[in-house]
Amino acid sequence: MKLLEGKIALITGASRGIGHGIALKFAEQGANVAFTYLSSIEKGQALEKELEAYGIKAKGYRSDAADFKAAEELVNAVIADFGTIDILVNNAGITRDTLLMRMNEQQWDEVMNANLKSVFNLTKAVTKPMLKQRKGSIINMSSVVGIKGNAGQSNYAASKAGIIGFTKSIALELGSRNIRSNAIAPGFIETEMTAALDPKVVAEWRDSIPLKRGGTPDDVANATVFLASDMSAYITGQVINVCGGMLT
Ligand code: NAP
Repeated sequence: MKLLEGKIALITGASRGIGHGIALKFAEQGANVAFTYLSSIEKGQALEKELEAYGIKAKGYRSDAADFKAAEELVNAVIADFGTIDILVNNAGITRDTLLMRMNEQQWDEVMNANLKSVFNLTKAVTKPMLKQRKGSIINMSSVVGIKGNAGQSNYAASKAGIIGFTKSIALELGSRNIRSNAIAPGFIETEMTAALDPKVVAEWRDSIPLKRGGTPDDVANATVFLASDMSAYITGQVINVCGGMLT
């Protein structure tokens, strides 16, 4: 029996990296997958085909998670296409790294809107169908940086810390309706987001991780499958670090 058989999932930012890995694992575990992308149009369209090969229903939507109205329209479209939403994975995220001294208002606002406001937008939009069916699992992609901070990432770290406060509050608000809300805090996961970093810094990071390697999208996707599935039915309001022991 597959862990997500027949469940309907909405994943934001699945055209690349971690979101892409989650979409594939979800399909492998029998979920029907609605997913979003923003700028990677061709990759988004290709993913639809990749997912359908698992024999599940899949559809990609071009939608900006940072836009409140677009999030509402997206959720309405997914419900029209799939019937309901059982699992929401708020994965979309960006970085605009620089030291506070050089950070401008736009770099702050872009990160807050794409990383934190997006989580509010999508979560608010899915609560209606989840309340109606009295079940749901919401999984928000935070970061170890949101727990410990990181020089040069004050905007990103603040957005990821905000996600944790939001996740726990929603768990408290919606637990009595059987809607669970958890966060995942990945450490250093090797994707296009991290490919932009200085190779020397990357090598130092790998060496400082107890498991002696960077994580893969699959490492994060496996934890996401667990939180999405009924295997975690009694887990809500938690943050799971997927970091190879980096934050220990
Ligand atoms: P990535 O390779 O840069 O991919 C980001 C994804 O988010 C892309 O599919 C992108 O879509 C989408 N996206 C960005 N802004 C969006 C928006 N406004 N609306 C809709 N989609 C949007 O990043 P990643 O490394 O896979 O990271 C995924 C998540 O994990 C992020 O939240 C990130 O902060 C978090 N995380 C990553 C790491 C790491 O080490 N990689 C560590 C901790 C946490 P388009 O390409 O179509 O624009």
